[in-house]
Amino acid sequence: MQTTMRKSQTSAAIAADNASVESMATMSAPSNLHGFDLVKEEFVPEYNAKGFLFKHKKTGAEVMSLSNDDENKSFGVTFRTPPANSTGIPHILEHSVLCGSRKYPIKEPFVELIKGSLNTFLNAMTYPDRTCYPVASCNLADFYNLVDVYLDAVFHPKCIENERTFEQEGWHYELNDKDEDLTYKGVVFNEMKGVYSSPDSVLARECQQALFPENTYGVDSGGSPEVIPELTFAEFKDFHGKFYHPSNARLWFYGDDDVENRLKLLSGFLDEFDAKDVDSSIASQAFFKEPKRVVKTYASGEDEEAQKCFVQINWLLNDKPFDQETALAVGFLDNLLLGSSASPLRLALEESGLGEAIVGFGLEDELRQPSFAIGMKGVEEADIPKVEKLIYDTMEKIATEGFTDDAIEASINSIEFSLRENNTGRFPRGLSMMLRSLSAWLYEGDPFEPLRYEEPLKHLKSRISSSEDVFRPLMRRMFLENTHRVTVELKPDQKLGEIEANEEKMKLSAKKASLSSEEIEHVVAETAALKLLQETPDSPEALKCIPALALSDIPKTAKEIPSDVGSIGSTELLTHDLFTNDIIYAEHLLDMKTIPEDLLPLVPLWTRALGRMGTSKRNFIEFDQIINAQTGGISVSPFVSPIRGDPNAISAYMVFRGKATSDKAGIMHDLMTEMLFDSKLDDQKIFKQLVLETRSGMESRVQGAGHSIAASRLEAQDSVAGWVNEQMGGLDQLEYLRKLAKRVDEDWDSVVADLETIRKCVSSRNNSITNLTGDSKTLDLSLSSAEKFLGSLNQSAPASSANAWKTINPAINELLTVPTTVNYVGKAANLYKSGYELNGSSYVINKLLGTTWLWDRVRVSGGAYGGFSDFDSHSGMFTYLSYRDPNLLKTLDNYDGTVEFLRNLHVDEDELTKSIIGTIGEIDSYQLPDAKGYTSLMRHLLKITPEERQERREQILGTTNKSFNDFAGALEAVRAPSAKVSAVCSAEAAEKAKSERPDLDFQMKRVI
Ligand SMILES: [Zn+2]
Repeated sequence: MQTTMRKSQTSAAIAADNASVESMATMSAPSNLHGFDLVKEEFVPEYNAKGFLFKHKKTGAEVMSLSNDDENKSFGVTFRTPPANSTGIPHILEHSVLCGSRKYPIKEPFVELIKGSLNTFLNAMTYPDRTCYPVASCNLADFYNLVDVYLDAVFHPKCIENERTFEQEGWHYELNDKDEDLTYKGVVFNEMKGVYSSPDSVLARECQQALFPENTYGVDSGGSPEVIPELTFAEFKDFHGKFYHPSNARLWFYGDDDVENRLKLLSGFLDEFDAKDVDSSIASQAFFKEPKRVVKTYASGEDEEAQKCFVQINWLLNDKPFDQETALAVGFLDNLLLGSSASPLRLALEESGLGEAIVGFGLEDELRQPSFAIGMKGVEEADIPKVEKLIYDTMEKIATEGFTDDAIEASINSIEFSLRENNTGRFPRGLSMMLRSLSAWLYEGDPFEPLRYEEPLKHLKSRISSSEDVFRPLMRRMFLENTHRVTVELKPDQKLGEIEANEEKMKLSAKKASLSSEEIEHVVAETAALKLLQETPDSPEALKCIPALALSDIPKTAKEIPSDVGSIGSTELLTHDLFTNDIIYAEHLLDMKTIPEDLLPLVPLWTRALGRMGTSKRNFIEFDQIINAQTGGISVSPFVSPIRGDPNAISAYMVFRGKATSDKAGIMHDLMTEMLFDSKLDDQKIFKQLVLETRSGMESRVQGAGHSIAASRLEAQDSVAGWVNEQMGGLDQLEYLRKLAKRVDEDWDSVVADLETIRKCVSSRNNSITNLTGDSKTLDLSLSSAEKFLGSLNQSAPASSANAWKTINPAINELLTVPTTVNYVGKAANLYKSGYELNGSSYVINKLLGTTWLWDRVRVSGGAYGGFSDFDSHSGMFTYLSYRDPNLLKTLDNYDGTVEFLRNLHVDEDELTKSIIGTIGEIDSYQLPDAKGYTSLMRHLLKITPEERQERREQILGTTNKSFNDFAGALEAVRAPSAKVSAVCSAEAAEKAKSERPDLDFQMKRVI
C-alpha cells in the first residue's frame, strides 16, 4: 500500500477546539444593551454556543443571540401570521415585502442581493402559521448588509402603499387588447397552480385541513388558486399592519460576530415603534371524539394506469408542543416505524403490493400541535380498506410485541450519528437551529429547550436500557387509542381538470361581460401600465441605495480544498485532510463504462435493489439494522458527466458512499463488500415493488419539476453523457420502467440475468478511484479497511469492457403532455459546437440573465414562478428553462430576446461589480467538510486543475461590459433554428402551440 498523505496538527486542532468551548461557556453579556433587557443566558454545549435571550424594552420584541465560532453567520426575523382564509395573504405578503422598502426604494432589493451578495442563504418562507425571513453569510460586512435590507423590508415595505406589487405578486386581471379573453396573472397565483397540479400536494393540503378543521391550519396559507382572486388590496395591507410589528417579532442571530453590534443594529429599527397588542395566537384544535373520513378528488390523466387512488391516515398527537423528552421519544418512535426501509410500518406497506409508494411525512412537529401521517399512493380503489387495515394491524402488532433490541440499537445509533455530524448540507447550521428553537419559542415556550438534546437523550437511553417499556404505551396513546384521526381518500377524476379550467374561464368571461367598454379600456391600460413598470429597470442611481461590497473585499485567489493524490495499490487515492469530528467520509468509484448500453436504464433499479432483498449472510432487516447500528449510512448511485474539451469523453462511475466514526471504518467497508457481492437480486415481488415505486416517483417529478425533465430531454439530444443520464433519470427512464413492470411479470429470469450482468461489470478494480475525507488521524485509521474493500474487487478488467456508448436521441422539438395547469418550457443549444470557447465571464453573464432579463420577462411580467438559464461548462449546453409558467410560445420569444438584450446592454460600473461579487460568492460557496471532499473529487474527475480555476476566477474578476455584448453572439446558437425546444405542458397548451408555430414541427408525446 502506498499513500502520499500529509500529517497535520490534529491534536492541536482538538486542543484549540476545547479552548474555545471554555471561552464560550464563560462569555458574558455585552455591557451596552442598546435598549434591550437580558431575559436569560445559557451555554448550549450541544452546539458549543453561548446564548442570550433579550427583550426589546419598548416593543417587547424577542431576540435570541447565539455565539460560537461558526463563520457562517445567520439571522432571521419571524412573525406569527395565522391566516383566516385561503386567499394566500401571508404568502403574497412574503413575496411582496421584498419588493422595495423605505431605505431601499427600488423594485426588488431581494433580487439585487441575489445578484451581488456573498450570501450563503437568502430566502423567505411561509408556514401555515408564520412567515420567516432568514439570511446567512460568512462575510461580516455582507451579513450586516443582508440583515439591514431584510429588516427594512419587513417593517417598511413599499408594497403596502403601492398596489402594483400586490397585483404582480398576488393576482390581477390581464388584458393586452380589448378583444382578448380576460385572464388572471400573478406570481403566487401561478406558483400555487403549479403546486396543486401535483396530486401529492393536493393530498397534503386536504390532510392538513381535515386534521385541523377549526383553527388556522384548516385554511391554506399558500393560497388556493380559485380563492386567491378574492383577496383585496385593503385586506392585504391590513394584514401587514396587524402582524408585521416588533411586538409580534422573534429575531435570531447566530455565529462568530459581536453580540453588542447585533443589538445596536436591531435597536436602529425597533426603537421607532411603540409596543402594540398583537393577537396572533394560534388556537388549539380540540380533539375529535370520533375518527373521521374525508373523500376528495384530483385531476388525473386519461390512461388506465393513471386512475389510481391515494389514502392517508392522519393523527393529531397532542394539544400543545411536546416537552423535550416526549419530543425525543416520539422522534425515536417515528424513526423506528418509518426511518429506514426495513422499519416495520414502512416495510409492511412497501411489501404489501397494495400500492406503488408510501405517502405521509410520519411525524410533523414544527406546528403548534404535533401530528403523524402515513398512507399509500397508486392504490386500486378496492384496496383502500386493505391499506388501512394493514396500517392498524401493523401498529397493533408493534404495540403488543414492541420493537426488537436490534431495531432500537440501530435507531439510537442513527439518531446519535446525525446529532454528532450535525450535517445540514447546504442549509446553514445556524438556521437549522433557529427553526428548531422556533418550534417551542413560537408557542410561548422556552427557545433554549429544543436546542438541548444531550440530557434528555441520556435520560431516555437509560429508561430504554433499564428495560422500561417506553414505546409500546406510546404506540397505544398516540395511535391506537387516539380518536383524533382522519382518513383521507383522494380519487382520480379525469374531468376535474377540464371542469376547473372551465369554471375559471366562465368566471372571467362573466367578469368581462359585466364591464362597460370604458372599464375594459381601463383594464387594458392597467395591464400596459403594469407591464411598462415591470419592464423598466431601476436607474443606476436608484440602485446605489443597496449596500454593496467592493471588489477589494473579494479574495483574488481561489481557495483550494486540501487534497492529496496518490494511490492505494492499483487504485487512485484522493485524501482530504479536514476536521470532521472523527467521522470518515468514503467514496469508492467503480468504472461503469463496462455496462452495455442497453442495460443502462436498469442501473438505478440495480442500485435500489442492492441489499433490499437481503444478502447471502443475513436478511434485509438484519442488513439494514447493522448498517444503521454501525455507520452513518451507505449508499450507491451512478455518476455520469461529460468532460470538457473532448465531446466523446465521459466520466462514468458507480459510486459507493459511506460514513462512519473512524473506529467503525472496518465494519463499514465490510458491509460495502457484502452489499456489492452478496446482495440477493432474485426476489421478484420486492423488485416489482421497487419498479412501481420508482415509476411513481418519476411521474410525480414530471408534474412537479417538469423543467428538469425538459432539460434532460435536451441534453439527451446533444451528447452521449446526456443520453445516458436520460436513460437513468429522464423520460426514457419512465418509459423503460413502464415496460419493465410487465417484463418482471412475464420474463423475470432475464431481468435477474441483467441485474447480475451489471454487478459483474462494476465489480472490477480496474480504473477505480477512492476518495477519503477526514483529519489525518481519521484517514490513517480508515486506510487499511478501504484497502480491504478494494482488495475484494475483481483484480482484472471485466470481459465486457469493450462496450462503447454512442447513442444520442434524434434532435426534435417536443411537447410532453401531462394533466397540469402550468407549463415548463426549455430551449437549448450547445455553444461549444458553434465555436464558443469557455471564459469565466460566462458565469457572470448567466447569473445576471437570471436576475434581469429572464427574471423580468418570464417571471415578473410573464407571471411564471421562475425563469432562468443554465450553462453547463462541461458539455457546453446553454439551456433556458421556465418553471410553473402560464405561457409557452411567448416564453420562447423572451428566450430569443436575450440576444438583443445582451447586445444592447450597458452595465454600469456598480452593477458590474455586483454581478462579479455575486458570481464569486457562488463559486466560493460555504461547504461542510464532506461536501468539500466531494467537490474536490468532482474537480479531479472532470479534470479541472487549480490553475484552470484560478484562470477562470481572473476572467470572472475581469468581466467587462463588452463581455456581455460579445456573449450575445454566442447565444445566437440558442436562437437559431437548430436550437431545440422541449416543454412539459397540458394537451391543450400543446395543441395550441403546435398550430400556432407549424415551423417548429413540434412532436407531441403524452406522458401521463
Ligand atoms: Zn412563493
